[in-house]
Amino acid sequence: MELSCSVCSELYVPTVHVVITPCGHMFHNDCILPWLERSRTCPDCRTECSASGLTKVHFNVTAHLERNNAMLMEKLDNITLKLGEALTKIEQTTDTCKEKQDMLSDTLQTVLVEMRTQNTGIRDLEHKMDECTMGLGDFMTSMFDAKE
Ligand SMILES: [Zn+2]
Ligand SMILES: [Zn+2]
Repeated sequence: MELSCSVCSELYVPTVHVVITPCGHMFHNDCILPWLERSRTCPDCRTECSASGLTKVHFNVTAHLERNNAMLMEKLDNITLKLGEALTKIEQTTDTCKEKQDMLSDTLQTVLVEMRTQNTGIRDLEHKMDECTMGLGDFMTSMFDAKE
């Protein structure tokens, strides 16, 4: 789930000062204050609203993100393990799947790099994970095909 401020359209991040109006709408503190100076109504539903009626929102997402990260790391470990097993098998057989093997290694490298830099969102990372898992599946399938 992604929450965004309807004044500036930016997503909320845990460190930013977010407030909630008496009508239950959420905005950046820095976005709603100038707005209320001009209009005194909620930007979302036009209910009358003043700066004194705002309540600060305390997000509890850090722990959730950490859990997510731990989960992703576990997934990555599994993929790395499976990849290792697959590569060992490949070495024992022929190199007909060399191309796919390289492709898969590249994808895994990308995931690892992004894990380290943490520059992309968790969702991108999960997407890449899925790609990697799918690639591994295809790879295993083609390995069986090659054997037949
Ligand atoms: Zn905003
Ligand atoms: Zn409202």
